Amino acid sequence: MPHPVVDAGRLLLQRSGVFYRQKHLLAIEGLEPPAISQLLDLAESYVLLNRSGKTQRDLLRGRTLINLFFEDSTRTRTSFELAGKRLGADVINMAVSSSSVNKGETLIDTAATLNAMHCDLLVVRHDQSGAPNLLAQIVDAAVINAGDGTREHPTQALLDALTIKRRKGRIAGLTVAICGDIAHSRVARSNIHLLTTMGCQVRVVGPPTLIPAEIADLGVTVFHQMAEGLAGADVVMMLRLQRERMSRGLVPSAREYFRFYGLDKAKLARAKPDAIVMHPGPMNRGVEIDSAVADDALHSVIKEQVEMGVAVRMAVLDILSQGHGRNEP
Ligand code: ASP
Repeated sequence: MPHPVVDAGRLLLQRSGVFYRQKHLLAIEGLEPPAISQLLDLAESYVLLNRSGKTQRDLLRGRTLINLFFEDSTRTRTSFELAGKRLGADVINMAVSSSSVNKGETLIDTAATLNAMHCDLLVVRHDQSGAPNLLAQIVDAAVINAGDGTREHPTQALLDALTIKRRKGRIAGLTVAICGDIAHSRVARSNIHLLTTMGCQVRVVGPPTLIPAEIADLGVTVFHQMAEGLAGADVVMMLRLQRERMSRGLVPSAREYFRFYGLDKAKLARAKPDAIVMHPGPMNRGVEIDSAVADDALHSVIKEQVEMGVAVRMAVLDILSQGHGRNEP
């Protein structure tokens, strides 16, 4: 039995037309504001559905979703699994560590195998930037990028935008400071594309060693001091130091990093009094964020981000499975 809340979301799509017309979700870069807004509106209807405790298991009944994660994940993999199950899909989590990938199978051979299994939705995380795009050229399934190298993490940016919109009532016109390890962060890149496209002033804040020079080309303002970068910000987004992607020591000790770039109450006081604090997780407490800020119910929306993650992934699975997309990847 269809649920009225999701029906309303779908009705909205029918009335206004479908603006998200890609077969896959590989990146935020290149998406137009109407497509982003539509994904956020549909996700909002799933927030209401999830909170009502109702399910909508008929939408993806008979469809198969495969989670193919070549890198660790807690939130993203589980929330795709939950999203797929809540919509009635058969969900398979491929444990790469126990698959033939470990025996030297190439990504292309793995993709061909998955294709032969007639999977409908393929969620991929890989340490190589562009790997999901390669897969999208080979498989018949709709491919969703769940994070590729340092390039993009589109569903993270969508869930961040939904969290911001719900807390602030809008996205356009806000000042957002993205702080920390910008160089290695796909979360930063996807957020920069989404937030600049939707009319935010985006700042990036961090030590020169963690901010690539070309980032300014994406329309952001670069700061190296937290006090200046956070001044008057509506949203403070903290990032993890991604040591696993650093080939050389780019930061001093964790203690020194925290002193200059870790978000504590004193640094947060530079932002607007009603600023929200975000973090995509996993958090390194005492390195990029102080526990007193991470757990501060007045400012921190970190748990809400996780909740929005499920709704956003439901919306993405829903819209891609409707098949409005063009065939080219
Ligand atoms: N979970 C996010 C990602 O996969 C952020 C992080 O790992 O720090 O990119």
